[in-house]
Amino acid sequence: MNDLRLTSKQEVIKAGLNVLYNIGADQICKPCIASGGSCCIDCRFLQPGVGCQQRNTSCTAWLCGFLKYIFFESGLLLQWELFWDQVPGQDYREDYTPDHFDVITWLDSPNIRFLSKAFAQDLTELLQNRDLFWLLELKEQLDRYVDLWLDYTDPEIKRAIEKKMNALTNEFRHFHSVKEQWKRGLI
Ligand code: SF4
Ligand code: SF4
Repeated sequence: MNDLRLTSKQEVIKAGLNVLYNIGADQICKPCIASGGSCCIDCRFLQPGVGCQQRNTSCTAWLCGFLKYIFFESGLLLQWELFWDQVPGQDYREDYTPDHFDVITWLDSPNIRFLSKAFAQDLTELLQNRDLFWLLELKEQLDRYVDLWLDYTDPEIKRAIEKKMNALTNEFRHFHSVKEQWKRGLI
């Protein structure tokens, strides 16, 4: 049985950013932002060219479809969801999280930046012949499929959803190749 651990708002933000870095989120954000797909557009806390000026628990915990898909494929999604479920006061683009509170589970943070690097490479290449609408649509569809996968417990249905995600991302050749090598322990 896990013990309660006293933590702070700043500590969970730091732990979350560390996981996001180790999973390579920044590499996917680069082509996404360059194509106009940023999730921070029109936020009052965004300083253009500099970045977020008000890091909060809500935005740290939130995953767009691309990142959710990488967390899903790397097997880190459930621990991420469980961890942030313990953090009170999350809202839209801001938080009311207390300075100190207890949690039970913590985050593992393996370095798998190569997965996102490969995904970002595919995304960058595909964007040469696609538009912003395609990017937003893909991001939304991945978001929906991963949420559906989480909702269902029936293994048959889960497998069907995984097939759909594979079909949706079949042009992400670098990503799938690197992912397969990683799962076989070759990298
Ligand atoms: S939508 Fe996702 S990939 Fe795009 S900038 Fe936001 S977090 Fe990064
Ligand atoms: S508060 Fe959230 S949406 Fe606003 S700039 Fe920061 S990370 Fe982006």
